[in-house]
Amino acid sequence: MIRPDPDFPASFAQARERFLAAARGRGARIASHDNAAGPGLDGEALATDVAVLGAADARHVVLVQSGTHGVEGYCGSGVQHALLREVLSREVRGAASLHWIDVHTGLGPAGHGELIYAGRDDTADLARTRACWGPTVTSIYDGSSTSAKISGMVGNAFYEECPGTALAAVALEYGTVPMDEVRDALRFDHWVAAHAPGDATARANARERMLQAFFVDTDGWKAAILAQGRDAVAKATAAIRAG
Ligand SMILES: [Zn+2]
Repeated sequence: MIRPDPDFPASFAQARERFLAAARGRGARIASHDNAAGPGLDGEALATDVAVLGAADARHVVLVQSGTHGVEGYCGSGVQHALLREVLSREVRGAASLHWIDVHTGLGPAGHGELIYAGRDDTADLARTRACWGPTVTSIYDGSSTSAKISGMVGNAFYEECPGTALAAVALEYGTVPMDEVRDALRFDHWVAAHAPGDATARANARERMLQAFFVDTDGWKAAILAQGRDAVAKATAAIRAG
């Protein structure tokens, strides 16, 4: 279990409730897309909620996304909630491109957010991304990233859905615990799902180990996550204003 915290949620249901409340509080336009695969493990409804701040016809957009990999949403939802509570709508208003930040956890040193280029293998898009977030942005295409070269990325959808829009995109990948612990938690979780799905104790253990592997419940880690999340959004809005 995660300790009570104003931003970082203890469950998907709490994350959703807080996100929607904060979005309403900011006057955001909200669209909820129900997930037919639900309900979740606790019987909760599953959905993707989208909150839009600023002009409906904004030409430049910052998109902050979390929960791409379920358990990593404990971290990403905290960043989103903190941002919704602060100065964001004014910062992005009036902007013709998309700056995309997709929050992940589980790779790299604890508390360090690696900015990993998340677009396709395209020189111009990578250059635009590094111009925004700095030359330290890593890439799976040149081997500079902690992440392996993967396929089926969420970012691929952008190119299909938004032809002609300039993209700058990163996965903000926060480190948690040593890689062996992450791998063991994943392996045990898969083993329980495959071999002991009816064993409630084993399922609870697997769930707790996954949580421990993908979220670090300390004040220091959470402060580091929020500071880097805020900095990533500030750089995106600055790039829009400078553009
Ligand atoms: Zn991930």
